Amino acid sequence: MNRRLIIATHNEGKVREFSEMLSSHFPEILSAKTFSSIAPEETGTTFTENAIIKAKALSHHAGEGTFVLADDSGLCIDALNGEPGLLSARWAEVDCNGKTVLDFPYAMRTILQKMEHVAEKEARKAHFACVLALYTDKDSCQVIEGTVHGTIAFEMRGSLGHGYDPIFVPDGFDCTFAEMDQSIKNKISHRAKAIENVNCRM
Ligand code: IMP
Repeated sequence: MNRRLIIATHNEGKVREFSEMLSSHFPEILSAKTFSSIAPEETGTTFTENAIIKAKALSHHAGEGTFVLADDSGLCIDALNGEPGLLSARWAEVDCNGKTVLDFPYAMRTILQKMEHVAEKEARKAHFACVLALYTDKDSCQVIEGTVHGTIAFEMRGSLGHGYDPIFVPDGFDCTFAEMDQSIKNKISHRAKAIENVNCRM
């Protein structure tokens, strides 16, 4: 079957994870980079709005065996009233010679500092949220959600994965997302949960 999936993101970590999770469904998986598409401004006020904005930017490619998939996701920390949440990428933005780059160790240090006074593991609850927007043809968009619950570690641990993985310990595990075999992360993550819900429609 000649099916093609376009992942509407410039985030290499997400492309890697989606490719691993969906390669059995799609022999051809491409990212936004292939189309020299510039990342649209994420002006939405919810994960859903931003996921749709990102998928819509490439939705004209959808149809006849080509699907377009985007996700918007973030880390929501109870003790920080749900922050960084929608602004998860923005918390990592730093200026580097006049250019904005993402520095996740910097963002994680900020979080760990803000949570210094939160000593009990029970009070360090957090979750990763993900909303997928899927265009199966250029006019029809489906929205699917996925969540994984866990806690914020007391320090950064591990070097695998991407983004905030070194400080997130999923429920049922002692290691962070950045310490675990990525094939396990890809079975339990917020993106995996959302994909499970979408699978039956692909
Ligand atoms: P988005 O690309 O606008 O959806 O921003 C999502 C941000 O949330 C990413 O840049 C990461 O900072 C964070 N994030 C989302 N999913 C993950 C994950 O699986 N691990 C670590 N960080 C993540």
